[in-house]
Amino acid sequence: MKNDITIAQEATLHHIKEVAKTLDIREDDLEFYGKYKAKLSDELWEQVKDRKDGKLILVTAINPTPAGEGKTTISVGLSQAFGKLNQKAIVALREPSLGPCFGIKGGASGGGYSQVVPMEDLNLHFTGDFHAITSANNLLAAMMDNHIHQGNDLNIDTNSIVWKRCLDMNDRVLRNTVVGLGRKVDGVVREDHFVITVASEIMAILCLADNMKDLKIRLSKIIVAYNYDGEPVTAGQLNAVGAMAALLKDAIKPNLVQTLEHTPAIIHGGPFANIAHGCNSVRATKMGLKLADYVITEAGFGADLGAEKFFDIKCRKAGLKPDAVVLVATIRALKYNGGVAKADLSNENLDALRLGTANLEKHIENLQKFKVPIVVTLNRFVTDTDAELEYVKEFCENRGCDFALSEVWEKGGDGGVELAKKVIETIQTKESEFTYLYDETLPLKDKIEKIATEIYGAKAVAYDVAALKAIDKIEEIGFKELPICMAKNQYSLSDDPSKLGRPTDFVIHIREVYVSAGAGFVVAITGTVMTMPGLPKKPAAENVDVSDESVITGLF
Ligand code: ADP
Ligand code: MG
Repeated sequence: MKNDITIAQEATLHHIKEVAKTLDIREDDLEFYGKYKAKLSDELWEQVKDRKDGKLILVTAINPTPAGEGKTTISVGLSQAFGKLNQKAIVALREPSLGPCFGIKGGASGGGYSQVVPMEDLNLHFTGDFHAITSANNLLAAMMDNHIHQGNDLNIDTNSIVWKRCLDMNDRVLRNTVVGLGRKVDGVVREDHFVITVASEIMAILCLADNMKDLKIRLSKIIVAYNYDGEPVTAGQLNAVGAMAALLKDAIKPNLVQTLEHTPAIIHGGPFANIAHGCNSVRATKMGLKLADYVITEAGFGADLGAEKFFDIKCRKAGLKPDAVVLVATIRALKYNGGVAKADLSNENLDALRLGTANLEKHIENLQKFKVPIVVTLNRFVTDTDAELEYVKEFCENRGCDFALSEVWEKGGDGGVELAKKVIETIQTKESEFTYLYDETLPLKDKIEKIATEIYGAKAVAYDVAALKAIDKIEEIGFKELPICMAKNQYSLSDDPSKLGRPTDFVIHIREVYVSAGAGFVVAITGTVMTMPGLPKKPAAENVDVSDESVITGLF
């Protein structure tokens, strides 16, 4: 089959105002970025906000291989399949980051005949939202360092600075750096750090804010450092809020684009699910629910990360109630979880499949804790054998789980009709009794331990001394009752990426804990996970090119 970018470039796109028309959005409520991209105006929200909500469907997955298991592909394909059934549906996804795009995984606009287009725009710069977030983040850093240089009236302890600069790039050399070298006028020397933009608190704030007013309140609460008395110093105290919000004025508006079958897609915000909360923006999801009967949204990586944070952070904070969960598995990832090397995933191996299915089983059990009806889907690859597909189907049916095979990568919406029908039937016959995993008012350690033991399957949690100290401090300054945003590798249920399948008898190590007071959660960093990724030995960037006619190749 053709590669993703070729399929995307061969597609004839509709003008975005035509796509908007299918949702009864007037041209006046669109802010055009060329012919195929538009931002949805605040006025549109005012018009639709009292409508009844559509149904909310979360797409999540088992623990992935490094290539990704097709959540985005399934999300897009499922929304196209709803279109085939004449149902009004919107796929609401995150914006891709340049990190994975040029690293190992490639883009994040779906695959095969289930993609969001224009895929090159989407994967590179799009409507500039990430640049705006990066700018707002770094403006705050610049104002903080300048404040220290100009006399430090707020008494900021330069050894207790927690705000980091950011960049939407996998750039390992910026993880730890020194700023302020040179002469006196060059600022105060201190150790500094960069995170990737998708791990910035500004990204989380943009995704969780209801409107401009809420955005500004959240920005003002950001803790940038502690003073010599150990008290928090905020972005509000640095008088940075107005300028940061001004930079984010357009970035907080959801973006409308289309799928290969011209159904609507709202793409907005993009925190990673391993080192951030992993969901698209609340504004986009809420807008979608007012405009369509079904909204399909994806949470990043496996259900241990993305889905848990979708439920316990996003849904809790935004008052959203999901109606169904689609759990994506692939034969490849199941075999990978059963110990098969990456290079051998295309060979039939029923023994490894059986072993690896323990991973699927754990995710089914986990999702059942949130009491939202589940449909398991297998994202079919051409290398899957009938015996392998049959095994997984039976496995699910024996557990009373709804199951459907997806062929959306190969066939577009047509390949997702079976899944779409299953999802509709599930929503019509099974009531969602959505509940959170933990009570927000519990102490921070209790919440961390609940996630580690109940979702990851750990026997215990071990804390570094610095993490314990941080927890005490965070509770003391009044943030005990925030939800937890776990940062963990995506490959394993444990904090050790080499422990695949369904590991048992392991300990989760909490290395670092900090509060994102503006986002409204406490981040707990486990194992060796890093908030600034690096590039692999052969970065995907080496294959990207652009012709003399400005046609891009090599993105995938
Ligand atoms: P995720 O959202 O789970 O990270 P994606 O949907 O982005 O995964 O898919 C990752 C990659 O796998 C994409 O390049 C996509 O084209 C490819 N892919 C997805 N499904 C299939 C499939 N059924 N067959 C072959 N390639 C696929
Ligand atoms: Mg994805």
